[in-house]
Amino acid sequence: MLSATAFCHTLLRECVRPGDAVVDATAGNGHDTFFLTQLTGPDGKVFAFDIQPRALGTTALLLRTKGVPESCYHLIGANHAEMAAHLPPDLTGRCAAVIFNLGYLPGGDKSVITRRETTLPAVRTALALLRPGGLLLVVVYPGHPGGAEEAAALREWAAGLPSSSSRVTEYRNLNAAKPSPCVLAIGKTGSGVDQDQDADPIPLES
Ligand code: SAH
Repeated sequence: MLSATAFCHTLLRECVRPGDAVVDATAGNGHDTFFLTQLTGPDGKVFAFDIQPRALGTTALLLRTKGVPESCYHLIGANHAEMAAHLPPDLTGRCAAVIFNLGYLPGGDKSVITRRETTLPAVRTALALLRPGGLLLVVVYPGHPGGAEEAAALREWAAGLPSSSSRVTEYRNLNAAKPSPCVLAIGKTGSGVDQDQDADPIPLES
């Protein structure tokens, strides 16, 4: 079984190509930001957001230690609900992937958490940023205070997305002893074709 993070990285490897632009909406300790720079390469760009200066400092240190050229990323100290205002306008509809890793900063202040009120507008903006074939990943943690409400609101939003323009899947452990992280993976299709009609036809002969 893959952890939530490993599952996300597997999907990102399939979707992100050298030269792509991507967004890490919650830089945290920088692990996803670094991983993404390895996929986008010298000609691509990773835009990484966090509201905590400490998180951006840790992320910057990790990227420098790993030798990632500064031209490959842009660290932005802002709320991801306002990400559109901080990104190049021509990125809309061109982004290969956006990832959110919600909750609190591991090893940091557990009172600074992502919140439904800002996470929901942020994921809506993220979906608009994606190109057809792009991927929105949200790692959701229902275990901490406020986490279950945030998770429920995100699932409701994701489940209601039109199947003509997106495919929504969920990766979660069904028999965990305590609440465990799950992944909402939203693929933007933009084909205008109802996804249910894309399913393989049921064979008529056995
Ligand atoms: N992906 C990270 C872990 C992220 S932890 C890693 O690999 O290490 C969640 C992060 O989201 C925290 O650093 C927290 O400061 C940040 N955060 C919380 N609310 C935010 C918001 N509204 N906008 C941007 N970042 C936010």
